[in-house]
Order: sequence, then structure tokens, then C-alpha cells
Amino acid sequence: MSRDHLVLAGARIVTPGGVLDPGWIRLAGDLIDAVGAGSAPEPAGVDLRGQWVLPGFIDLHVHGGGGASFTEGPEDDARRAAEFHRGRGTTNLLASLVTAPLAELEARCAMLAGLADDGVIAGLHLEGPFLAPARRGAQDPRHMLAPDAAVFDRLHAAARGHLRVITLAPELPGAAAVIEAATRSGVTVAVGHTDATADVTMAAIDAGATHATHLFNGMRPLHHREPGAAGALLDRAEVTCELIADGVHLHDLVVRLAARLAGPGRLVLVSDAMAAAGMPDGSYRLGSLRVTVAGGVARLADDPGGAIAGSTATLGGVVRHAIAAGVPVPEVAAAASTTPARVLGLGDGTGALSPGRAADLVICDDDFRPRAVMRQGNWLTRPAVSGPR
Ligand SMILES: [Zn+2]
Repeated sequence: MSRDHLVLAGARIVTPGGVLDPGWIRLAGDLIDAVGAGSAPEPAGVDLRGQWVLPGFIDLHVHGGGGASFTEGPEDDARRAAEFHRGRGTTNLLASLVTAPLAELEARCAMLAGLADDGVIAGLHLEGPFLAPARRGAQDPRHMLAPDAAVFDRLHAAARGHLRVITLAPELPGAAAVIEAATRSGVTVAVGHTDATADVTMAAIDAGATHATHLFNGMRPLHHREPGAAGALLDRAEVTCELIADGVHLHDLVVRLAARLAGPGRLVLVSDAMAAAGMPDGSYRLGSLRVTVAGGVARLADDPGGAIAGSTATLGGVVRHAIAAGVPVPEVAAAASTTPARVLGLGDGTGALSPGRAADLVICDDDFRPRAVMRQGNWLTRPAVSGPR
């Protein structure tokens, strides 16, 4: 078997057209060369009977993992956080920053832009600083700013073309100008940490907002006479909606309802993971705030029983939970890979098990626990199989 030509066979393969059971994938170098149903047309290099192959997960919202953060600490920490998630199936991710003093945000943008240059991360997500204190969640209200296009331009410049998503509260004065500046720069505007009404959110979508940051979390609840941002974001066909389907942030029924309403083309599963992902209970930081993790649930240390502070999940864990909650496997794969790839403008390059796309894939056991990860044709963790490789 030549090194750059490999056939994986015998697994249930999740493709945009449905699950091939069994199916095979032929890889050539860093690309998927061919995908088919039934037995492979040539001997399998890796026999994956009893396992699933899903496209590599793409996380649009992640602050850290494995004890390391994008939001603070040295560059090596940010690399470790990305590596932690990659080894667990997230083959592409945006590094998410939280609200912080402006000079610090600029410095973090500049540092993370270097990691994007190196291909360690797919870009940056600014979750702040133009957020509503009333819906701050685990964000520091002392550093929140009124939306200001000049401030946006500074942060955009610091990120050197790698800023991909900015979350803002559209009800704040000045938000329209930032939505316009971001849209003009090709940055996706996400509505989140907002107390906006449905009408205000509709106007923001008309102005160019196309994404929802962790739908339902950090916004007013969907009320039947004032459906709020959540109702408006779900209603509009051009909006992609993040869900933190980790079993903590949302009731499983809400996950199913939102998945049904948004459909696989608009649903985006995210981890919103912080440094504590993959780590034991204890004390951590999220930006400037202290966080306590107990029983796997992260909460602000100064607000016990209060605001949930990001998650301790990986996107693979969210995928597994969403499937257990009743979302069909192909829709989960679309929401964890295909749709976020499209949001990043990578829709032709990755995000699906289709010929011509990057060989980014996750092999899961029967219970959807990631067992092996391939990124751009390279095994990050190898499958446990007996046959030749
Ligand atoms: Zn977040």
C-alpha cells in the first residue's frame, strides 16, 4: 500500500447523501479521492467494521481545552488548546476570545493571527466586546464597549485578515455601523449576548447579521408574545444557528426543536469549550473571570449556581450528545462539519466526506466515541485495527 493512497472500508460512512452502510473511502494524499457503498473495489488498507466515519468536526466557538486557553496565556498554550481539540476530532476551529480590555484584545488578535498563518487555527472569533451587560453570561461587563466601527477596524487590522466571526448585541447604539463595517470586511456578524427584541434582531439580519451565537444562551427566552433574538434568528432562512448541545446548556427537547426548525443546512453544533474541557473539576479562568468546575459544569466562581461559563465539552462530545438526544446522524454531521465549513467559506475544501475535499475525518465507535482522527491525510490518532495500514 503506497503511503499516499489508502482505502478505508467496512464502516458506516456518513456522506451528504446519507449513510453508506457499509461503505468505503479511498484517500489520495491529503484528499478524498472516491467514496462508495458496499465492499471496496480494491483491498482495504484499514478495515473499520462496526465503526462510523464522520467528516472532521469544525468548531466555530471554542475558548480552550486540555487546561490551555486562547483567551490568556502564552502562544504555546493556544497551540496546546488547538492540539487538544484536534486529537479529539475537531480538524478545524476558530479561536474564540471573550470581552477584555481593548489593548489586550488587540494583542490576542495579533498573536492568534500568527497561529492562523501557521494553519493551527482556521481564524478568530471575537465574542465581544460589543455585548449587552444584561445578558453577559460569563463575560466581564467592566470591559464591554458600545459598538464602535473604529474599534472594530482596530481589532480587524490586528487580526490581519483572520477575523472570521464577531458576536455583538444589535440593540446597542452604534451596532448598525459595526454590522456594516464587519459585513464590508467579509466578517460574519453573529447575534449573541443580547437582550434584543425580535424586531431589533430582524433589523440586524436585514443589515447583514447571518449567524447566531449559542442560540438561547445569552439572550432573552423565546416568549410567545416577544420571541426575542432566539425567535427571530430561528425564523430567518439566511441565519446559521449555533447550539451548545452538551446536555448542560440546553434541554434535549430544545435541541431537537431547534434542529428541526433550523434544518441541517442552518444548524451549527459548537462546544464553547473553555480550558477545563478534558480536565478534572477545579478552578480555571475564562478571560479575566474565575471559573469553578464541579461535576463537569463550569460556573463563574463569584456566582455559584449562577451563570454557566462555557462548557467542558469537546465538539465530539456534543456530537455524541446530539445523536443521543435524537437528532439524526446525517443532520448531526452536517451541523458539526458541513455547515460550519460553509460559514468559514471552506465549503468546497472540507466539511464532508466527498471526493475532492480534504481528507479530514473522524472514526467513531458504535457509541460515537472518537477513536481515530485524520487531518489532511495524516493520522493524528490512529485507528485500532488489525489489518495492514
Ligand atoms: Zn463563548
